[in-house]
Amino acid sequence: MIYGIIGDIHSNYDALTSVVNELKQEHVDKILCIGDIVGYAAEPARCIELVRELNCITVAGNHDYATVKKFPVEYFHVDARTAVLWTAEQLSEDYKHFLKNLPLVEELEGVTIVHASLNHPEFFDYITTVTDAQLCFDKLKTQVCFYGHTHVPLAIILDNRGSIHVDRGNVFDLNNVGKILVNVGSVGQPRDWDMRASCAIYDTDKKIATIKRVKYNINDAAGKVYLAGLPGVNALRLMEHVI
Ligand code: ZN
Repeated sequence: MIYGIIGDIHSNYDALTSVVNELKQEHVDKILCIGDIVGYAAEPARCIELVRELNCITVAGNHDYATVKKFPVEYFHVDARTAVLWTAEQLSEDYKHFLKNLPLVEELEGVTIVHASLNHPEFFDYITTVTDAQLCFDKLKTQVCFYGHTHVPLAIILDNRGSIHVDRGNVFDLNNVGKILVNVGSVGQPRDWDMRASCAIYDTDKKIATIKRVKYNINDAAGKVYLAGLPGVNALRLMEHVI
């Protein structure tokens, strides 16, 4: 089985379609979505529509739940909050119902997906310390968990001797690790100074997970953010890169 794993799409339809085309070329059997389909950018409905059309196995992100009042919008920075409130106005009841009913965690054969952390997934806490990672590993029943939330692709590895380390590469061999948390990065708003959309591919036979970066039309996506009257910073963030 080859999984494609996407997340933190954040209403960026241009990035999403480029990533989906790439995953089709990689012949993935099933797409998993680690949440935050909406927020920040201008095409929430089209993004939800495509995720549904592709039958992605999907969990909720904090922006998805905030849009349908299942997570307090007060926790959000003003630019994110403005987009959440705007998004709620754009979506039909059917799409809101879809977001509202997304689960926090999905456990498949050998693979778990969550947006932020398995430790109280409803709080959407960031994994920033070894203790955070350990708490997440404590809850992990499969070998691998794919997650997102920070928009920075990397892997946190628990080796067979019980020590934890971070791997910032883009190919992770699961044959030699105990457990692993793979952050797939963000489709729609990368925050690691690489403007290309990020996603992951996991080959369950070979037990290899790979981070993929995909070019997309950033100018089109940014232009739509301005046209919608959303905060300009939500467009500028798509262009953060190392010169
Ligand atoms: Zn996000």
